[in-house]
Amino acid sequence: MNIILLGPPGAGKGTQARILEEGRGMIQLSTGDMLRAARTSGTEMGQRVAAIMDAGELVTDEIVIGLIEEKLNGDHGGGFIFDGFPRTLAQADALGELLEKHGTSLDAVVEMRVDDDALVARITARSTCGDCGEVYNDLTKPIPADGKCSNCGGTEFKRRADDNEESLKVRLMEYYKKTSPLIGYYYAKGKLAPVDGLGEIDAVASEISTVLDA
Ligand code: AMP
Repeated sequence: MNIILLGPPGAGKGTQARILEEGRGMIQLSTGDMLRAARTSGTEMGQRVAAIMDAGELVTDEIVIGLIEEKLNGDHGGGFIFDGFPRTLAQADALGELLEKHGTSLDAVVEMRVDDDALVARITARSTCGDCGEVYNDLTKPIPADGKCSNCGGTEFKRRADDNEESLKVRLMEYYKKTSPLIGYYYAKGKLAPVDGLGEIDAVASEISTVLDA
C-alpha cells in the first residue's frame, strides 16, 4: 500500500509516519528529512537548499522529485508513506508517473486537518532525537524525564532551524498557496481520506488505521 500524508507543517505527519512504519512495515519517505540529511553531510545540493529551507520556502520541484525517484528504485517493503511530498501539483503529477513506471499506484491520501493556532503552538514546542529522529513535543509528548530518547536511548535533542514563528508564517503561506490545491486534486481522483489531526497521537493513529483499512 502506498499513501501520502498531506497536511500543513506541524500537522503530525512525521509522528504518524513512524507509527505506520512500525505497525505496517511501510517505509517513510520524507523529503524534508532527505534535504536535512543532505545539509548535514554538506553536499553541494544541501548547501544550495539551506537558506531556502531556513526561510520556510519550497525548494525546486526538480530537486525533490529527483530525491524521491532515487528512493523508489529501492526496496518496496510494505509500501511507501510519502511525508511532505508532494507539495505542488507538478510534484503530484510526477509522483503518479513514477509510481506507474514502477508498476504500482497510490492507494490513499490521508489529509491531516489541524487549525493554524494549534500548528504554531505545536511547532514552537517541537524537538527531535539527534540520533534516531524520534519526534517529541513539550505539550503532547515531552522528552522522557530521564533525558533519554524512548526509541534509541540517545541523549541529544535538537530543534529545527525553521521551527520558529517567522519561518512558520512563510511555511504556512507556501502550504496554502502551493500545497493545499492537492486536496482538490486527490479528491477528484477519489483518493482523499480526511482525518482529524487535532486529537491525541494514538487517537489520530487509530483514525488513520480505520481509513486505510476501509
Ligand atoms: P518538512 O520537514 O517536510 O517540514 O520540510 C522542511 C523544508 O524542506 C520545507 O520547508 C521546504 O523548504 C523543504 N521541502 C521538504 N519537502 C519539500 C517538497 N516536497 N517540495 C519542496 N520543498 C520541500
